[in-house]
Amino acid sequence: MKKGAAKFAQGDLSDRLAIPASEELSELAVTMNRMAENLDEKIKDFKTRSMELEAVHASMQEGVIAIDKDERIITINAAAAKIFDFPLSKLKARYILEVVRNFEFQKFIQRALATPEPVEDDIVITRDEDLILNIHSTALYDTGERRMGTLIIFHNITRVRRLERMHKDFAANVSHELKTPLTSIKGFIETLQEMLNTNDTGKSESFLKIIEKNVNRMIDLINDLLALSRLERLQGTDIQLESQDMATLIHGAVNSCHAGIQAKNIAVSIDCPEDLTAMVDPILMEQAFINLVDNAVKYSREDKPVTITVTRQDDFIDIEIKDKGCGIAKEHLSNIFNRFYRVDKARSRHEGGTGLGLAIVKHIIQYHKGKIDVQSKKDKGSTFRISIPV
Ligand code: ADP
Repeated sequence: MKKGAAKFAQGDLSDRLAIPASEELSELAVTMNRMAENLDEKIKDFKTRSMELEAVHASMQEGVIAIDKDERIITINAAAAKIFDFPLSKLKARYILEVVRNFEFQKFIQRALATPEPVEDDIVITRDEDLILNIHSTALYDTGERRMGTLIIFHNITRVRRLERMHKDFAANVSHELKTPLTSIKGFIETLQEMLNTNDTGKSESFLKIIEKNVNRMIDLINDLLALSRLERLQGTDIQLESQDMATLIHGAVNSCHAGIQAKNIAVSIDCPEDLTAMVDPILMEQAFINLVDNAVKYSREDKPVTITVTRQDDFIDIEIKDKGCGIAKEHLSNIFNRFYRVDKARSRHEGGTGLGLAIVKHIIQYHKGKIDVQSKKDKGSTFRISIPV
C-alpha cells in the first residue's frame, strides 16, 4: 500500500492497490483506489477540455490574445500571429507592445487593463496596405476571482470598411452624375414655362434639344449602371461561352459606332484574319469592343485614324485598338478603369461619356479570364490591348 500510495502521489494513477485481507486496511485501500479513479477521470476530462479549447483557439478566424497584468502574452492564436506578421512560436511571454508597435493599440491595452468592463475600438495599423482592426477586450480572472489580465479579440475589418467606403463613394457619384443633368433639365423647363407665359417661344426648340440631350445622358448612365451591376452579379458564375469569329464582332462594334466615326471623318482600319475564333460571350465581348472603339473616336480629333489589329499569340487572341487622339497622361493611367474616373470631366461630358465605359470593359475581360492594358502618351494617342484565351 505504501508503494502504491507513492505512485499515486507521483501522478501515476493507472494502477490500483491490492486489497489486503485485514478489514481496516482493505477499507483504506478501497477508498484510495476510488480516489485514484476519480482523480484519473478528472485529469482526463481536463485534458480533453483543454485540447478542445486549443483546437477552437487555433482554428478561429479572429485573432485572440490573452495578456497578463504586466502586458505580457499568456496565449496567442495563429490568426493573431498572422495579423501582426510574427512567427507564433516566438510570441509567448513577450510584451504585447513589442509585437504590436502602435500608439492607439497601446492606449487601448491600458484602458482595457484599467477597467473590469469590456472595451471596444477600431484601430488602423499602418503598413504598405493599411490594416483596419476591430478589437474587443474582456477582463480575465483567476480561480480566486483575482484580475489576472485581459483577453483581446481582433477582427480584421479592412475589407468590410473598404467595401463600405466604395458603396458610399459609389452612391455619392451616381447621385452627383444624375443631379447635374436633372438640374439642367429643371432650369430649362422653368425657362420654357416663363417663355410660354410671355408668348416668347423663339428659343424653345433649342431648349427642348438641351433637355433631350440631358435626358439621353441620364438614360445612358442608367444603362451603363445596369450593365455594370449585371456583370457584377455574374462574377464567379460560369458564363455561356460560344465559339465566335473575331472579325464579325469587330465589324459589328465598328458599325455601332458609325455615327461618331462619320461625324469626325475618322478612317477605321481593321486587320483581322477571317478564321480567327475564340470562346466568348458574343454580346458582352462586342460591348467591350464598342466601348473601346467609341472612346478611340470620342477622344480623337477629326480625320485622325483608328487602327484595330487582331492577332493570335499561342493560346491567346490579342486585340489592339489604337488611336491618335488626345492620349492620357501617365498619372491617370492606373485610374481610368475605375468607375466614374475621367481625365477631363468636361470633355467626357461633352462627348456624352458616363465615366463607366472602361469599368464595364474591365469587368467583361476579367469575366473571360483575359487581360487588358493601355499604353498612352498625352497628345500622342492611346493603344488599348486586350488578350483573351482562345
Ligand atoms: P467616359 O464615358 O468618360 O469615356 P470611360 O470609362 O470610357 O469613360 O473612360 C474613362 C476616361 O479615360 C475618359 O473620361 C477619358 O479621360 C479616358 N480615356 C478613355 N479612352 C481614351 C482614349 N482612347 N483616349 C484618351 N483618353 C481616353
